[in-house]
Amino acid sequence: MDKVVWIGIDDTDSKKAGCTTFVGALLLRRVKSLGYTLVGYPRLVRLNPNCPYKTRGNAAIALAVESDRFDVLEDVVIKTVEEYAELDAEGTDPGVAFFFGEPLQELREYYWHTVRELSSIEEAEKIAENIGAKLLKWKSGRGVIGALSAIGADLTKGRTYELIAYRRRDYWGTVRLVDPDSVWEMDKTTYPLTFDNVDRDTGEIRITPHTPCPVLLGIRGVTPHIVEQAYNMLRIYEPVEFYTIFETNQGTDAHLQMMKISNVKEGVSAIIDCTVRSKPRYSIGGHVFFKIGDETGEITCAVYEPTKRLRHIIVELEPGDEITVYGGVKMKPEGLTLNLEKIHIRSLVKSFVKRAPRCRFCGRKMKRVGKPGYVCKSCRSFSREPELVEVERKIPLGVYEVPPSARRHLSRPLALATNYQHG
Ligand SMILES: [Zn+2]
Repeated sequence: MDKVVWIGIDDTDSKKAGCTTFVGALLLRRVKSLGYTLVGYPRLVRLNPNCPYKTRGNAAIALAVESDRFDVLEDVVIKTVEEYAELDAEGTDPGVAFFFGEPLQELREYYWHTVRELSSIEEAEKIAENIGAKLLKWKSGRGVIGALSAIGADLTKGRTYELIAYRRRDYWGTVRLVDPDSVWEMDKTTYPLTFDNVDRDTGEIRITPHTPCPVLLGIRGVTPHIVEQAYNMLRIYEPVEFYTIFETNQGTDAHLQMMKISNVKEGVSAIIDCTVRSKPRYSIGGHVFFKIGDETGEITCAVYEPTKRLRHIIVELEPGDEITVYGGVKMKPEGLTLNLEKIHIRSLVKSFVKRAPRCRFCGRKMKRVGKPGYVCKSCRSFSREPELVEVERKIPLGVYEVPPSARRHLSRPLALATNYQHG
């Protein structure tokens, strides 16, 4: 029997064009046409969304191939990367990793590290040396981090699938000819087994990107079968070059880890049980900011303008409310700031307004007399304390999320969490 060779690829795309998934899908087709057998589905692995070097989606590709001629395979990989990677673009630093056999525990741990924290090329090289993986670098070769990590991707805690259809070259950069009505019909039939097809708030179609890249559309779902079924429901008025179904860590919350505030640092994505420490307020640009704290410290929580309706909920929070926040952490001028992806509002403090009290002798409403307190106009009695009247809080307890347009690839949509148990 042939040996299994894992191939990982990352950072072949630039901010403007290209697409790592396209290079991966092309490689897959070439490898298949040479007679190699693919093991399982190719993988589309999203890495730490807070990485400062990321291109659009910070995606890496991995595939497993049965091969007894590694030299031939390696040659195909090199040729494909050199042909299709945006090597002239600044910030495109492709990397390829090869690994023989089943990924080891050390490689699995490396994946969790790269999806949750910031990592370096040196670290990737050290791991590769330890486990006997082979790395290839172009330019700075930063892509080796994602390439190695994608091979180690541990999808046992959740996996989803994405069908990506690619455009014929002469259509690149033109308007995508997918009938929007057919997308809504497809969504109606398959959601939430497929997800992020449309944004119900804005009426926007989410499966087609707006970049001049080779991707025509991507459909995300919980099984390979459902994404293919959904694809076949679409009316597409341009030629499709081919499509590929990837197994992915998208929509699984793989990037998030439960943390105390004192352990939070730049680049991590955290889940924090905390309380609201300051009243959330709108700021310039429509962003909302407030302080959150636990027994170990305090940081800022940001709810940016693109989160749209979520902000209307957030500004109803009061200091003392108990919440769990989910999001990526960045260093900002005002200190460590968590960019909110999801929030669980667990308990609300009682909220009161101050009102003039009633006189304890005659029961009439007292009148406010400047700072010191209240007097009764008929008995001349005096009270220092106002009456506190409880006002109803406007937000129901529960979990709230950002709209699909603001959602990170790795974030698990709520519809998916409640309607689908990962196998
Ligand atoms: Zn009175």
